[in-house]
Amino acid sequence: MKRALITGITGQDGSFLAEYLLERGYDVFGLVRRESWFRPNNASHLANKIHVLFGDMSEGIDISSALQDAKPDEIYNLASQSRPGESWARAPETLMINGMGAIRLFEGVRHACPEARVYHASSSEMFGQTKIIPQNEETPFNPSNPYAAAKAYAHQMVRIYRESYGLFIASGILFNHESERRPLHFVTQKIAYGAACTALGIKDSVDLNERGIPIVSKGQLALGNLDIARDWGHAIDFVRAMWLMLQKQQPDDYVIGTGKLHTLRQLCKSAYEHVGFDWQDHVISDPALVRPLETEQTLADASKARKILNWEPTISFEQMVGKMVDAQIARLDSKMPSKK
Ligand code: NAP
Repeated sequence: MKRALITGITGQDGSFLAEYLLERGYDVFGLVRRESWFRPNNASHLANKIHVLFGDMSEGIDISSALQDAKPDEIYNLASQSRPGESWARAPETLMINGMGAIRLFEGVRHACPEARVYHASSSEMFGQTKIIPQNEETPFNPSNPYAAAKAYAHQMVRIYRESYGLFIASGILFNHESERRPLHFVTQKIAYGAACTALGIKDSVDLNERGIPIVSKGQLALGNLDIARDWGHAIDFVRAMWLMLQKQQPDDYVIGTGKLHTLRQLCKSAYEHVGFDWQDHVISDPALVRPLETEQTLADASKARKILNWEPTISFEQMVGKMVDAQIARLDSKMPSKK
């Protein structure tokens, strides 16, 4: 039985990946921050199926212990301060986890299990303020926020550790991928939530935004720049790509994305249409929510992954948005006073 260690198993991707590996008969270990395990999280439902190893990516000793306990054949490094927008306020911590955390892991692998295969989560945010569209593995990075800069650093270190020590570290330059498990502070989930509130007739939501006011207030969802365009796919398709990368003979870097560009405006349209409403009656653009420096249009050229990994996305943009809205409706509906 193959053994896999996942950092960030309580996150969106980590939990889907754990399910994917369990289905394939893997013995799955997860590095988890102690405080996160004892509250509901994306991997709670897997509690009896996985081995939980407590630890923090900011502690080298935690990582070494996890490697020694798990004795993994495959390692998936997904742990991250994963919110680009928040990385402005948490820049040092973002570098410590997303940059240094990766190096601590690579060092641990080098000493404890150099034969293990490692997947590292890079990000399309690394392309930042680029004018080259679409982006592939050769496109230069021009990060425009602390999250992206830390990811670019770790990405370079993947190559350096691969070439200097012969470690098997594959890097996935993943474009945006969403799901029912995205936290509410991500804009895509806010839109799904907003559409769900409208469908259920909720004018003032219980959940608050980063400014401490209801996400939906007086029936309106306030967002930043609606012209932002991204290549959005569903997380289930993306975790399959991670696994495929570790099944190849040689480690490499792969861009993973759908190759289809949509704006936030289109995402709003799709979400509200899914429940039979016109988004323009329920969404406003608030200049106070615009980021200081925004990543440009990111559009994946995933032809290398399609050719070498035989990877294709299977869930469309509209299906992804529909699933997210339906999940928010179910969540909100179960909390309505009459359902308690
Ligand atoms: P996510 O849902 O935010 O999950 C992040 C995970 O990292 C959580 O399990 C979190 O644990 C863990 N973590 C954070 N700080 C940690 C620390 N100091 N020690 C140990 N664990 C820590 O992120 P995701 O969407 O699944 O993304 C997975 C990876 O892919 C991340 O590296 C992300 O940056 C990258 N990525 C994501 C996308 C995307 O669109 N989703 C695109 C490109 C790249 P807690 O539960 O304790 O917070």
